Amino acid sequence: MSVINNEDVEKVLKKFEPVMGLEVHAQLKTTTKLMSAASNQFGSSPNTAVSTICTGMPGALPVLNKKAVQMALQAGLALDCEIQKRSVFSRKHYFYPDLPKGYQISQYDRPYALKGAVQFYLNGEKRKIALTRIHLEEDAGKNLHFDDRGVSLVDLNRSSVPLIEIVSEPEIRSTAEAAAYLKALRLALRYLDICEGNLEEGNFRCDANISLRPRGEQKFGTRVELKNINSFRNLERAITYEILRQADLLDSGGKITQETRLWDADQNKSISMRSKEEAADYRYMPEPDLLPLEIVERDIEDIRKKLPEMPIARMDRFIRDYGRNIYDADVLTASSSLADYYETVSKAIQDPQLASTFIQTNVLAHIANVETDIETFFPDAKALSDLLLKMKDKTLSLNLAKEVFEIMMAEKKPAAQIISEKGMAQVSDDSALLAVIEKVIAENPGQLAELKAGKDKLFGFFMGQCQKALGGKGNPATLKELLEKKLKG
Ligand code: ADP
Ligand code: MG
Repeated sequence: MSVINNEDVEKVLKKFEPVMGLEVHAQLKTTTKLMSAASNQFGSSPNTAVSTICTGMPGALPVLNKKAVQMALQAGLALDCEIQKRSVFSRKHYFYPDLPKGYQISQYDRPYALKGAVQFYLNGEKRKIALTRIHLEEDAGKNLHFDDRGVSLVDLNRSSVPLIEIVSEPEIRSTAEAAAYLKALRLALRYLDICEGNLEEGNFRCDANISLRPRGEQKFGTRVELKNINSFRNLERAITYEILRQADLLDSGGKITQETRLWDADQNKSISMRSKEEAADYRYMPEPDLLPLEIVERDIEDIRKKLPEMPIARMDRFIRDYGRNIYDADVLTASSSLADYYETVSKAIQDPQLASTFIQTNVLAHIANVETDIETFFPDAKALSDLLLKMKDKTLSLNLAKEVFEIMMAEKKPAAQIISEKGMAQVSDDSALLAVIEKVIAENPGQLAELKAGKDKLFGFFMGQCQKALGGKGNPATLKELLEKKLKG
């Protein structure tokens, strides 16, 4: 079973309800590691961003990174979690070459944040998926496999990179909802500027837990954990594949084994990696080299006060205050810098609708990355506002405004300068327009006769001829009005 057929999926979904909970590991954008002063810089050459702690040297003691704790708290507060005043680090033991200490320092039974939720819109409705917890932990190193040389080497640069693990309740009910949840969570972390949020690069990783239950059944089925999902496309494929696999098994009287499966994107299927490890297998014990993490109310309040407006709140405000629909609000809040850009323009020109359509159809067409590109884009918010004001005061028609916009991008000049240099202002003056209208009418007696005889379509012909004579700069509304009077009056 490697080709996914939509009809099969529909049939299965009539019978079974998927139940999902996601575990997300997000790397925090700190300068240094979670437990050491080594650099947390992605892309350094192997084993250069390391310290005795990252390499697990005996006797090296961990020192908790305050900045990582602050970022973790930002996430916890922004996602409405209950921050725990006292949380505890534990050792999670397992053997693997990329983990020289033999254990990962993680929070286990006493995480720093409980509950909370991720909110987003799906199919026009607001959804809220509850979180179980968020905890802080350090990342492990990475094994690099060189098949051509027949060797595997270990890179410890990732060792002790700070992570928060965000665990959702099993409240997700469809593939689309899983993707929407993950996007909303990623956007929240990006607004906070604490995680790159890049699945492909592995700084934002997602494990999907999935079970099926017959529709109408209350009890959850046995779950399978899917790992190695490194894109949104793979998330959807892996989940769909797993839904079909489990349905097949259940339909043929089989039982689901609780296990961890790896998604193989090349082969479009998942393979069993290991039967699900139990917590007891990890021999968790409190980390004796670190004190419990104590967080005081004042620090929590300081961080809470500085939180930016989060994406869902901003979306709701755009809907409420700027009359946007869900789609527009979603597009315009795709990054906080884009949302700022929209809001500045919208206020400056006092026209949220024009700002929204012009930005979506013109600005966004030239922007690959809504986060970084918009910050260096020209026309910036001020320059775009000035351009659109030239539309509002009728100096420019929409078509002329688009032309000026293109020139602004190319020449990096303000709208007013381009309009005067290239003589691009539209002609709204009645007498100038009438002169052209009279000339066009005089030159086309045949068409005039036909129009008078009832061929109304020819009105468009006269509009076109006038605009042509005006180099496309006739104020369309005024021109139409005057032409109508002349021809029909
Ligand atoms: P572990 O850390 O061992 O994977 P957790 O108890 O933290 O286990 O749960 C992991 C994830 O599995 C959570 O996101 C949770 O919502 C989800 N989950 C739990 N039970 C089910 C189930 N029956 N079906 C689908 N997902 C589930
Ligand atoms: Mg898990």
